[in-house]
This record gives sequence, structure tokens and C-alpha cells, in this order.
Amino acid sequence: MHLVIIGNGITGVTAAQTVRRLQPAARITLVSDESEHHYSRTALMYVYMGHLRYQDIKPYEDWFWKENRLELVHGTATALDADQHQVQLSTGQTISYDNLLLATGSVSRRAGWPGQDLLGVQGLYGLPDLAQMERDTQGISRGVVVGGGLIGVELAEMLHTRRIAATVLVRDQHYWGSVLPPEEAELVDKQFRQHDVDVRYRTELREILGDTDGRVRAIVTSQGEELPCQWVGLGIGVTPNLSLAQSSTVETDRGILVNELLQTNLPDVYAAGDCAQHRQPGAGEVPIEQLWYTGRMQGETVAHTICGRPTPYRRGVWFNSAKFFNLEYQTYGQVPARTPTDIESFYWQHPTGNCALRINFAPHAHDAVVGFNAMGLRLRQAVCENWIKTQTPIHTVIGRLKTANFDPEFYRRHEPAIQRQFAEILAVKR
Ligand SMILES: Cc1cc2nc3c(=O)[nH]c(=O)nc-3n(C[C@H](O)[C@H](O)[C@H](O)COP(=O)(O)OP(=O)(O)OC[C@H]3O[C@@H](n4cnc5c(N)ncnc54)[C@H](O)[C@@H]3O)c2cc1C
Repeated sequence: MHLVIIGNGITGVTAAQTVRRLQPAARITLVSDESEHHYSRTALMYVYMGHLRYQDIKPYEDWFWKENRLELVHGTATALDADQHQVQLSTGQTISYDNLLLATGSVSRRAGWPGQDLLGVQGLYGLPDLAQMERDTQGISRGVVVGGGLIGVELAEMLHTRRIAATVLVRDQHYWGSVLPPEEAELVDKQFRQHDVDVRYRTELREILGDTDGRVRAIVTSQGEELPCQWVGLGIGVTPNLSLAQSSTVETDRGILVNELLQTNLPDVYAAGDCAQHRQPGAGEVPIEQLWYTGRMQGETVAHTICGRPTPYRRGVWFNSAKFFNLEYQTYGQVPARTPTDIESFYWQHPTGNCALRINFAPHAHDAVVGFNAMGLRLRQAVCENWIKTQTPIHTVIGRLKTANFDPEFYRRHEPAIQRQFAEILAVKR
């Protein structure tokens, strides 16, 4: 069996390693146009900030690939001939496959703003973006970041570490308005303030202005204000990379359409990770998942199916984590920005505003917990997931918070205050 994988991100590499384990004799080829070896995309910002070098964000030594008989091809796959079971590369080379996995990831989204192609305007997705940012932010004094999401805050932090003044434009009335409840968003806003980042809420980008050399010199906001700057970072999200898919008869919508086995409409062609769109996502799941850990899960799942063990993809309890400057964030289960009417929310926040815990629960289902948000403190994933899966009532969870505690200090310092606040709320209700 020859498996060809397009893309050496977390999805493609996980699939390759899993197939190697399940079918030691399989021939596996990984094609990638970005880097010769796999690296951790989520750690890109730390290279710019000088905390890590590029070689530090490669999880495997360069000899690993040969040792595991994973053939690496550095090039772009430009066409797919499903009838011939062949992929054409930009180098002129043609590769035949028995099974093909499309794991082509995402590309940064652009909204068609006037001036978005000027020098000094970019997104942050991969190594070319990192090199561009390194080059275009040398010696500048002010950058503008567009977008109040995860990449937006990373870009602001990156500028901050180079002492470049940053302004962030956020469309919503608070940070990451589609995901974070207002209280958690306020804690992130506090981080922005503490790091001297100028955040403009309810503000969008209208236009980017250039100088005579074609370099950005200012932006104009939706309020008509002109803000001088020498660099603009676009952090308005990503969209599936369909460049190869569109050169073939594989069915696409916003992403490459797959069934629960991550099969496309073409025989022996699969898609997984950021580029895949689930035709029928499970209840409470989204059709396109653009996360590191879901890429890893999809890569592992599809490998089983490719090896003749058909395995439907089930994401399980939602999980995500991030860091907003000094504030760590973890979320498990369902904690939407606006609490649904049939759900109640218990929210505790430390008086310093440096940490908080939210637990959502369902009064109609014996107060079973449905989700957690932890800000500035860490909870154990397995424990929280188990509480959600087993529909544990909130009073039991509050009583046993210690078992979810990642950091022993947390129990000593904060748990009594959390339990006291919960008891006070219960007393008022009764
Ligand atoms: C700056 C940044 C920070 C992030 N932080 C987090 C985080 O904290 N937590 C989290 O869960 N997620 C985070 N993400 C998202 C996460 O990194 C992605 O969901 C994940 O990397 C997607 O993995 P993938 O393997 O599906 O695709 P990718 O990692 O995008 O890999 C696809 C690869 O395929 C290559 N490719 C595409 N088309 C072709 C072709 N035709 N020929 C050859 N090669 C091709 C691409 O160049 C790319 O290298 C972050 C993303 C970014 C950009």
C-alpha cells in the first residue's frame, strides 16, 4: 500500500505515524510545500519573540523521518487525477498512490479591503509569514492588528515584545465576542491594558493607505479615523486551503467535504484536519474544525480507516486552550458567549482579576455540569471531560474541585473562596 499525504502539518504527520504503526510494511510519502520537516505551527509566535529558535519548534529530529521510512517530498501538489490515482507536483514529478490523504490546512482570510496587498500587510499562518513579519517590522514604531480573535492577540503580543506600539481593531463590543462571555473578555482586556495595547472595540478596518513606494503608511477605521502605522496584521481567521482540491473533481463547499470516515467523494481519497468539512457534524459540533488537537485526532482516526479498520470520527467533549499575554485560558464542553436560557452559569473571579472559573450547568438535568472556562488557572482535562460525560451535578463538582486541580497552589489559594461563593448562592436560592 502506498499512502501519499499532502501536507506535513499535525494532521498529515499524525496520520503517517499511525499508519506506520498499524501497517509496518506500508510505503508512506509526505508532500509539503512549506517546510521540509514538520514543525509546531502553534509555536510560531515564540520564534518571533525570541523565546525559541526554529529548530526548537520541530518536535522530531531530522533523522526521525528516514528512520521511520517516511519519504519526504518538498514541493507543491498542483493537480490530482483520481482516475489514474496520481498527483502532479510543481517539480514536474508525478506520484502514484493507492490511498491519498489531503491534509492541506488553511490559509489566512482576507476581506477584500482596499490596500490589503500593500507591502507591510499580512496574516500569520506559516513560515513565509514569519519571515515577512521579521522583515517588515524591523525598525517600525506602530502596527495595527485587525481582528479580535486568537491570532489577533498573538500578533499584538509579538509586536509588544519588540516594543512596537500596537492598536487592535475589534468588530465586537468586547474581545472575541463570538466565543468569550463578557466577564472573561474583560480579563483579556485587562491584559491588553497592562501591556499598553490600544484596543478599539466596535471598530472595523475600512481601508489601508500606502505611500509612494507601495508600503503601508496608515489605516482608516470604520469611524473614519486615520491611524498612521507602518505594518498591518490581519487576524480575522482562516479558511480551508482548497488550492489542490479545486484542481480536481473532489467535492468542496467551504472545505473539502467528507463523511464520518473522512472519505471524500473520490475513491481512496480522504481529507482531514483544517481543510476538511464534515457533511454531517454531530450534535453541538461544527463542520470545520481548525484546531491543533482536532487535527491530531482526525489524522489518527483516518489512518485506521486507511488501514482497513473503518473508524468514524468522533470529536467528543469540546476542548480548547490559549494564552492571552500572561493569562492562560482553557475551555471544556459548552460555554458559549451568551449563556442559553435553559443553562445556568456559576462564575467566580479573584478580586485581582488575574484568574476566574466559570461552570455552566443544566437545572433541567439535575444540575449536571455542561462546561468549564478556566482563566489564569489550570484544570485537568480528563477530570473535566469525565464530569461532563457523566453529567455530574455542580454541587458535587464544586465539592471535588481539588481532583481537577492541576496546580496544588490553586487548591490552597482559591478553592475555599470558590466553595464559599457557591454556598452563598445556594443559600440565597433556598
Ligand atoms: C499562529 C497560529 C497559532 C495557532 N494556535 C493554536 C492554538 O493555540 N491551539 C489550537 O488548537 N490551534 C491553534 N492554531 C491552529 C492549528 O495550528 C491548526 O488547526 C493546525 O495546525 C492545522 O493542522 P493541519 O495539519 O490540518 O494543517 P497545516 O498545519 O496547515 O498543514 C498543512 C500543510 O500543507 C501544506 N500544503 C497545502 N497545500 C499543499 C499542496 N498543494 N502541496 C504541498 N503542500 C501543501 C501547507 O503549506 C501546510 O504546511 C494556530 C494556528 C496559527 C496559524
